[in-house]
Amino acid sequence: LIQLYMPLNFLGFVYRQIRQALTDMEDMFTLLNIPQEITDRPGAVRLEAPEGRLTFDHVFFGYDTRRPILKDVSFTVEPGRMLAIVGPSGAGKSTISRLLFRFYDPQDGAVRIDGHDLRDLTQKSVRAAIGIVPQDTVLFNDTIEYNIAYGRPDASTEEIRRAAEMARIHDFITALPDGYDTVVGERGLKLSGGEKQRVAIARAILKAPRIMLFDEATSALDTATEREIQASLKEVSTGRTTLVIAHRLSTVVDADEIIVMRDGSIVERGTHKSLLAEEGLYLEMWRRQQQGDDTDPPV
Ligand code: ADP
Ligand code: MG
Repeated sequence: LIQLYMPLNFLGFVYRQIRQALTDMEDMFTLLNIPQEITDRPGAVRLEAPEGRLTFDHVFFGYDTRRPILKDVSFTVEPGRMLAIVGPSGAGKSTISRLLFRFYDPQDGAVRIDGHDLRDLTQKSVRAAIGIVPQDTVLFNDTIEYNIAYGRPDASTEEIRRAAEMARIHDFITALPDGYDTVVGERGLKLSGGEKQRVAIARAILKAPRIMLFDEATSALDTATEREIQASLKEVSTGRTTLVIAHRLSTVVDADEIIVMRDGSIVERGTHKSLLAEEGLYLEMWRRQQQGDDTDPPV
């Protein structure tokens, strides 16, 4: 009997472990406020060798369908080009990045990469094609090295160091008693907002995907560090499709196109120069920031 009991007992253990893992995963979804309904549809295909053309095609979306957030948002970013999204907080900028990473599906319209509707592609292949530096980075309870290499686990130590240098976080890491082996996250060393951002930037630099998505990626950094990292970001985003959501307009003057959002709609679009000439919301925001006033213009 004991011969039967042991394996059954073991199976019970495995079952409890799996159930715990599933519960943890659900917690993660709850934590990130991500609906779990997003799954691959039957017959979803892999996004193969993406060029990186990005399209929002008359996108309508609300977290709660009774409260629309994005209202008819359309734009295209050609492979290798840079699009900047600016506008007051609450305008729906981060929501665009969440739809692109397919945390949600639009209620109407479509998000496409290389012409493929994201809903026809496997989530895994979509996310592999995109490197994201979110507004608030959550780190894994693991070593700094693991956190940087996440997304490209096969990276060599040398490549990880190089990415960390480009993100201006290498010196900080090597000064820690345990260096790259330091455990960070909620249960480890708690990093400041700026340090977390630099870890996330190093991660994106290392992953070097076709599409880069920066959501106020340098907002927690001082101006000097921001300027240093901007050079690295420019280097790494060259030749890649880049979407920059920016608070400080000075960081987007070189973008191929800038869209200005307000209240879920695109209200102005053009280049830095053409937008200034339009004498609208962009010019107003620009003037405020030139005067050192970081607050949003009245909506
Ligand atoms: P921005 O990045 O331009 O500041 P967001 O895209 O984060 O704006 O938010 C746009 C609107 O959507 C805001 O009114 C915000 O309150 C709402 N919102 C953002 N995230 C969620 C969410 N997870 N659930 C419900 N509403 C949300
Ligand atoms: Mg935002």
